[in-house]
Amino acid sequence: MSAEAWLKLALLSNGISVSPEFSAWFADTAGYVRRRNFYNSPNWSSTDDVTPPQELLLAGDRPVIVAVNNYGRPAWRLSWSAESGPVVVSQDGDRSHPVELISDLAAVRTDNAISRLCNLYGGSALAFFSPRACYFFADGTECGFCSLNGTARENDEFAARLTAVDVGDAVKAVVAEHPDEVNQIMIVGGNERDLNRGFRNQVKLVRAASLSLEQAGLADKISVHLVAMPPRDLSIIHELEDVPNVHVGFNLEVWDARRFSEVAPGKHADYTQSEILKALEYLRDVVGHYRAHSILIAGLETPHSTLAGAAALASSGISPIINAYHSDRHSSLGLSIRPTYRQLAEVAAGLQELHDTYPIKPYWKGCGRNALDYEAANGMFRSAAPELN
Ligand code: SF4
Repeated sequence: MSAEAWLKLALLSNGISVSPEFSAWFADTAGYVRRRNFYNSPNWSSTDDVTPPQELLLAGDRPVIVAVNNYGRPAWRLSWSAESGPVVVSQDGDRSHPVELISDLAAVRTDNAISRLCNLYGGSALAFFSPRACYFFADGTECGFCSLNGTARENDEFAARLTAVDVGDAVKAVVAEHPDEVNQIMIVGGNERDLNRGFRNQVKLVRAASLSLEQAGLADKISVHLVAMPPRDLSIIHELEDVPNVHVGFNLEVWDARRFSEVAPGKHADYTQSEILKALEYLRDVVGHYRAHSILIAGLETPHSTLAGAAALASSGISPIINAYHSDRHSSLGLSIRPTYRQLAEVAAGLQELHDTYPIKPYWKGCGRNALDYEAANGMFRSAAPELN
């Protein structure tokens, strides 16, 4: 049994509060990843003096990365003492589990020109977020879970839009210093109303990252990952055809069609769920089976519906991405919904069966702090879910 993978689900369901002891210790440490250049804001606590880390490693036989989403309510608690080091402790104090903080990349931490462009996500993805705006916010039809507008305003010292030169140069500098610490490049952001132009811009960033990896001899080892809205003209997707080791996602968010119109009203009105599905099939044919991905967010619809969608995608050669819903400040859904541990465990067990049946590739290669895929790809949900809360 992988205790760490199941514990991750309990922590994603409940969130993690942060003790003053941990905050005091964390404030005095150096070299760990700080929340910087972030694009979602799940920290609701008004009592934190110190911004908590963005993620942790649950240590143990099968270590996994988990997000620190502080929902400002009694929950599992991130604590620290000289004897134990950093640990997460259950609300009743009966259970505790050791955690490790994520070491930052010196090349990012010490170079302002690089740190305003990217961050280290989940301990192994070099993440670029561009553009830091999405046209759905202009008419209030943004996805209900999305906090991009408020987060970008709160975090405005970072580049709002990146160029291919920005990305290519940053990748070159970071992998020259850290060829073994980075296993993927992530390019993600909002969307501009001209979807063809926006997609072409994102492809330029992908190609720049890929070129730097090829020049460093690392294109086989470090993959390049893009998530965007699909272009209106699907033939533009062919511009990705010759990019090696690429993974691309068009996100459905939820599978149930009625729920899709509620959760993603802009996508529903402007593109439609059925057209995103067609775009995914087109994408699969261009980038290869299971290199086309789509997120379904566990918690925004029933577990049965999430799993029906994941099964339909997997059977057609598209890798589902299953993220546990994280409640972000600035999003319209916020804390109004929280998936229970039992609901997440049901999704995880069903996802495990799909990974045991199809050659699904996780979008995040171990760094998905809110995702269940890497754990399922590694068989960590095969045992019965333990009692946790
Ligand atoms: S498409 Fe939806 S989730 Fe993506 S940036 Fe726009 S509003 Fe946010």
